Amino acid sequence: MAGILITGALIIPMDEGRPDYFTGDLLVEKDRIAAVSDKPGSVDRSRAGRIIDGRNLVLMPGLINTHGHAAMTLFRGYADDLPLKEWLEAKIWPLEANLQGDDVYWGAMLSIAEMLKGGTTTFTDMYFFMDRVAAAAAESKIRAVLARGLIGVGGGSENSLREAEELFENWHGAAGGRISITLGPHAPYTCPPAFLRRVMALADRTGLPLQIHLSETAGEVRDCLQEHGCSPVQLMNRLGLLAYNVIAAHCVHLDERDIAVLAENKVGVAHNPGSNLKLGSGIAPAAALLSAGVKVGLGTDGAASNNNLDLLEEVRLAALLAKGAAREPTLIPAKTALQMATAGGAAVLSLPDTGRLKEGFKADIAGFDLAAPHMAPLHDPLAQLVYAATAGDASLVLVDGEVLVENKELTFLDETKICAEASRRAYRLTGRK
Ligand SMILES: [Zn+2]
Repeated sequence: MAGILITGALIIPMDEGRPDYFTGDLLVEKDRIAAVSDKPGSVDRSRAGRIIDGRNLVLMPGLINTHGHAAMTLFRGYADDLPLKEWLEAKIWPLEANLQGDDVYWGAMLSIAEMLKGGTTTFTDMYFFMDRVAAAAAESKIRAVLARGLIGVGGGSENSLREAEELFENWHGAAGGRISITLGPHAPYTCPPAFLRRVMALADRTGLPLQIHLSETAGEVRDCLQEHGCSPVQLMNRLGLLAYNVIAAHCVHLDERDIAVLAENKVGVAHNPGSNLKLGSGIAPAAALLSAGVKVGLGTDGAASNNNLDLLEEVRLAALLAKGAAREPTLIPAKTALQMATAGGAAVLSLPDTGRLKEGFKADIAGFDLAAPHMAPLHDPLAQLVYAATAGDASLVLVDGEVLVENKELTFLDETKICAEASRRAYRLTGRK
């Protein structure tokens, strides 16, 4: 297969050892980046079956969303402005009890369509009917890190462990390696220690990483202190869970010892600033985590608590919140914020060869349109992406070397049908005629 050559673009490689940005050409061959040149016109054009004029584009590694619940797009705007516990127990869980596999498929498709159009090339999901999410990911050609959500209280926990193992057997490494499976114990407060030991045994058998919600609210930490005499992070450490490859979502309420434990155990943190703000959970100490050497990626969380899946918005929030909370404008500068959404996210998810524009890396690429009033003048493309751009500026998106968005349109997914099907199913669930 002949390659795709993007010429004359502004390139932000997120590649240590190279400048932060330069004008150049990028060649894709099969699923990989074959060349990233800072000399426009220097790549041999005979290697390209297709040439894309990149002069109005800034290219960066595709955005990596490290935490979410894709099918919750169905509940976007259904229940807002409520405390987390009431929101979950009175609004979300009753609807989720009636979800069918096809609802989850179309909810995930809606989410994928939105993410691709915003420059996101990898998403992370913890939910149920995950075989249907895997099917949606495979068909849509996005990259996905999926987990069957596991709850160790009430009925159904046996069944969920079996489904997690089946998901691993049927989907791990599927779709040319674009789909990877993780284990998803929901949270310390829904997964008692005995159940977490069973999840760890499954991790031993499969070698899979774990993803878990951790220290999301002050109430969770208070309850854990009362019940176990230590913080959720310390409890997970005591149980041996942090010795595994762990993606910890939220980590809003941490003390200095918690941060040291996360660093020591090389835990990856999924920072979800928008969701944490909307649910009134607080502000995660992202700058302190980074300076302690913790891997930090960014996530949108589900669309019911965000309410969009615009990862650039999370990039901006991460930078702004760190500055505002500490009254220190030098914290989380633009490059660090973009790094969290790209190479940092790849490290959190243990995805090899993604998150950078570098020869030999996966061709997961996001190109943002520079031809708009809010993108002019262009003094610093990194600052522009972080502080001025939005999802709607994503114009060209490739995953595994395939063009999935071009000129701001999905190249083969039927957006009209996806929006209609997902909306119809959402209205059935909420009882709206
Ligand atoms: Zn979540």
